[in-house]
Amino acid sequence: MAAIAPTTWLSSFLEDWRPGTGAPVADTEPATGIHLASIPQSTPDDVARAAAAAAAAQPAWAETNYQERARVLRRVADLFDAHRAEFGDWTMRETAAVRSKMKHEQNFAYFEALNASTMPSQAYGSLMPSAERGRLSMVRRVPIGVVGAITPWNSPTVLGMRVVAPALALGNAVVLKPDPQTPVTGGAIIAALFAEAGLPEGLLQIVVGGADVGEALVTDPNVAMVSFTGSTATGRRVAQLAGGLLKKVSLELGGNNPFVVLDDADLDAAASAGAFSSFQHQGQICMTAGRHLIHRKVADAYLEKLVAKARRLKLGDPYREDVQLGPIVNERQLARVDGIVQRSIAGGATLAEGGTHDGLYYRPTVLADVTADLPAFTDEIFGPVAPVTTFETDDEAIALANASDYGLVAAIYTRSISRGLAIANRIRSGMIHVNDGTLNDEAVIPFGGMGISGNGSRFGGSANFDEFTEWQWVTLRDEPPSFPF
Ligand code: NAD
Repeated sequence: MAAIAPTTWLSSFLEDWRPGTGAPVADTEPATGIHLASIPQSTPDDVARAAAAAAAAQPAWAETNYQERARVLRRVADLFDAHRAEFGDWTMRETAAVRSKMKHEQNFAYFEALNASTMPSQAYGSLMPSAERGRLSMVRRVPIGVVGAITPWNSPTVLGMRVVAPALALGNAVVLKPDPQTPVTGGAIIAALFAEAGLPEGLLQIVVGGADVGEALVTDPNVAMVSFTGSTATGRRVAQLAGGLLKKVSLELGGNNPFVVLDDADLDAAASAGAFSSFQHQGQICMTAGRHLIHRKVADAYLEKLVAKARRLKLGDPYREDVQLGPIVNERQLARVDGIVQRSIAGGATLAEGGTHDGLYYRPTVLADVTADLPAFTDEIFGPVAPVTTFETDDEAIALANASDYGLVAAIYTRSISRGLAIANRIRSGMIHVNDGTLNDEAVIPFGGMGISGNGSRFGGSANFDEFTEWQWVTLRDEPPSFPF
């Protein structure tokens, strides 16, 4: 491998990167509108070619010994570290991530690769008892084949890596389609690192484009499984298409996550976690706290602290300035966020802070007196908005937390761990934290949601084996049995 200076490594790769035969589309920096790159888009025919090439390469990879597969993954992890600076710059510029979010992306992508590098060396089956004398019976996990991965723009490298790394580690090939707004951090970086790490040709294909390219990937006959991360609305469409073809489909979808503060909570700690959980990355994270449910006794004090925090946060260009919030990803999303805020105020919510914007920069917003019928309560906002609703009893807090079809993550603040656990036991959510924020994920944890936040699929840790392999039963006997026919 030729040494590549960290500041030019990705730019060199991009000069020759052609993920499709379609017209080039500008990749722009949301904070400035600066043109970062021109990316040729993929066509449905490109998807078919990519899936066919992946399918052709996969069987030999599945037979490659576990040490070699582990070595490639380990090397990808090392390369994430080696190219940290350029990867970080692209993340701040293309995804409008502030420095702390960018660092999370760097560390998490590294650990996804590192964790996946431990997977090829693990036992992949069991010897089973057999009712038949003289028969050796075993079950083993086999790769699914080609995994089609579709990811969103909000955390593109990590959400791509959490599919690509374990799927490849377990002997699959992958065709990855990042969101068209983040082709480099969601696609090119991953392709470049695996190529540099020595992944054999064909196994990782990147296609770039929107819904038509996504649907071509879901329905391609060479794609055996679809792993989709994105909105619940698109997830339903993907599930319909994949279901009709009887394909395995993993769905990691939206959230409207409750952040519950009980009357015995440490309010400073709660307000700090609440502000971070709602405003980090401009609220554009599936785990964002979407509903602050606060005990009436402490609601005024909590609101005051939350407003003070929101007021202090600095907005600006995350790449060139030291700020806590960057821009909203695009005009359409900005209009959506503001529409929910304005309709909620018109419906009776009180604007306690924010609610204004300068271009794509939306002030961190706190809404008080939010009732369960308002859009700020019912909808996933995906913006820097903290809607506050009050309750009087633990039962009421639980009912409000569960008053959503989503079920991704919940958080509870209380000084009583047993009270926190008793409430956690009754909230329908894939992940629950007591005395911590809602933004929590680790590569070793089976991450995922309940209700319309997913279809029971999980990413991470041991769940990766279930997601990216299928069981196969194999029996062997020396003497064939005799049959009555
Ligand atoms: P989106 O559903 O609009 O897009 C996601 C991906 O799907 C993109 O790559 C897009 O190009 C593609 N796509 C769009 N239409 C398609 C179609 N018809 N067929 C196939 N692919 C199609 O999502 P978004 O609004 O850009 O992303 C934000 C959403 O993602 C939020 O709802 C957020 O909560 C969710 N999300 C969930 C998780 C999780 O792990 N649960 C993580 C991050 C984001």
